[in-house]
Amino acid sequence: MTFEYMGIASSELAAAKAIASRAGVIEHRMVRLPDLKEAADIPGFRPPGLPATYIPLRNSIFYAFAASYAEEKGAGCIVGGHNKDDTDVFADVSPEFFISLQRALWNGSRILRKNRLKITSPLKRLRKPAVVRLAASLGVPFELTWSCHQDSEKHCWKCDGCVTRLRCFREAGIVDPLAGLKWEKIT
Ligand SMILES: [Zn+2]
Repeated sequence: MTFEYMGIASSELAAAKAIASRAGVIEHRMVRLPDLKEAADIPGFRPPGLPATYIPLRNSIFYAFAASYAEEKGAGCIVGGHNKDDTDVFADVSPEFFISLQRALWNGSRILRKNRLKITSPLKRLRKPAVVRLAASLGVPFELTWSCHQDSEKHCWKCDGCVTRLRCFREAGIVDPLAGLKWEKIT
């Protein structure tokens, strides 16, 4: 499932489609949420301690769509890609949030309760460099991935998303096929 909120880079959407296709995903559902904005795009909204890319109550909204889809398909599991770096920053990836959300979904849907729907985040104990190492060991096609916040054909290697990507590959000791040896130049 990919969410098209306001301002998401079209390159990120294209990357999501390419990766889903490579992975043999049967149905890659694109959810259009043009009214949902990042903090940077909301005038006067600068919540302390949160990045400009923060989206208010993002996971309450995303998981509601995922649960609706799970009900429709009779699925027993929703898998999220959150990692340990996310849990340091965002309250809506905490274990407490997911336990409460799962309970709310069971209370709100007899189908989800019957199917014993579980929400799981298999990467939640890994920091981003460890996710890169795991991805490398699984043969993830890094060349299809997208981390830049700019909408362009190539990564800018300057924005927060790009710099974090460079640092994580460097820390993981893996050469990013998109960045080559750019990671050697950052401090
Ligand atoms: Zn960038």
